Amino acid sequence: LPSELTAAKPILKQINQAGFQAYFVGGCVRDIILGKPIHDVDIASSAYPEEIKKIFKKTVDTGIQHGTVMVLDHGEGYEITTFRTESTYTDFRRPDQVTFVRSLSEDLKRRDFTINAFALDEDGQVIDYFDGLNDLSNRQIRAVGLAKERFTEDALRMMRALRFAAQLDFQIEGQTLAALVELGPNLAKIAVERIRVEFEKMLQGQAAGVALQVLVEAGLLPYLPGKTGLMTEANVFKVATQLERKQPQSQQVVWALYLGQQGFDGPTLQAQLRQWKLSKEVMQAVMAVGPLLADVNQIDRWAIYEHNAHVETLLETLTIMGIDKGVTDNIQKNYDSLAIYSMKDLALSGGDLIAAGLAKPGPDLGAALKKMERAVVLGQVNNTKEALTTLVKE
Ligand code: ATP
Ligand code: MG
Repeated sequence: LPSELTAAKPILKQINQAGFQAYFVGGCVRDIILGKPIHDVDIASSAYPEEIKKIFKKTVDTGIQHGTVMVLDHGEGYEITTFRTESTYTDFRRPDQVTFVRSLSEDLKRRDFTINAFALDEDGQVIDYFDGLNDLSNRQIRAVGLAKERFTEDALRMMRALRFAAQLDFQIEGQTLAALVELGPNLAKIAVERIRVEFEKMLQGQAAGVALQVLVEAGLLPYLPGKTGLMTEANVFKVATQLERKQPQSQQVVWALYLGQQGFDGPTLQAQLRQWKLSKEVMQAVMAVGPLLADVNQIDRWAIYEHNAHVETLLETLTIMGIDKGVTDNIQKNYDSLAIYSMKDLALSGGDLIAAGLAKPGPDLGAALKKMERAVVLGQVNNTKEALTTLVKE
């Protein structure tokens, strides 16, 4: 067992000793079997939240209404969720009701794919009710139960199928794929944010190019946000090919890649991205980098300075796009040799200028600062008090 799980084993033990069942469940079990690093340890238990709270001294109510309590242990937090079933999905996305149950198999049955429906007990025994181990060795994503039913209950599972296929380099099993083709239109009913999260994970996956192709061939494109412009079939295929080169390391790069496929003017670009409800931070980075991709010869020293917070995104995007290494090397060289990275790095500050009587507060000061900034960035003067004083006096 990896150290994260060894550390969490006493938690299972304590629950067991109190007379309840407890297991590791979900993605962490899948990743352990695959020998991949795990990111979150999920525990499921027959104990109800109130019962969990009686067993452990330190707990936090992180999601009591869904049956989740966090147990704090040696500075670590472990989410423990009561076994539950979900019933009647009238809106294709969220169950109308969550019911706590005492049976592990009921809980595992509501999970999306066989490879996500394992449980692992205190002794390290894998519980595999749906033949997930077989699917793991055949490298396939297969719905638990009837794929059509499962995708009707929650359409997001279709995006998740593609996401796991991309991350693991697995194929989507025949009936699961057929259900995805048939029920694709239901994706239009899912909250954009939830689709986006799965879409971004998919594009960062090792087999993203293949998964994107499956997405297009399954006819899902018209049901994704931002279908006008950004997500044309041609664009998506181009990105799919480029992704064979390298995986994006950040969300920013995922979106910048799309923009790299065609010249967008600022407002169109922003409108396209708004449809995907990107976070402010990602939006800023993409809006900075996007326009530069349209014409890489435009990326001069000043542009690199202006967007220096996003140079990493820029370089990674250009690399995936297959832009000549001479271009990226040059950007990197320019970036590394910038004398300043913001106006604050100037050897003479606004306060210094006023104190020395070189500028008056107001537009005059602003103009002087701009002049120094430009000259230093372009390497026309050194960033020293003397050189800058001479420049401003000119
Ligand atoms: P990751 O490693 O990316 O976190 P994960 O498998 O842990 O992958 P999560 O989204 O964290 O995925 O979900 C945890 C578990 O909850 C899944 O493994 C699956 O068993 C279950 N699950 C999550 N979303 C759904 C869903 N929409 N329908 C059914 N089961 C789901
Ligand atoms: Mg997870």
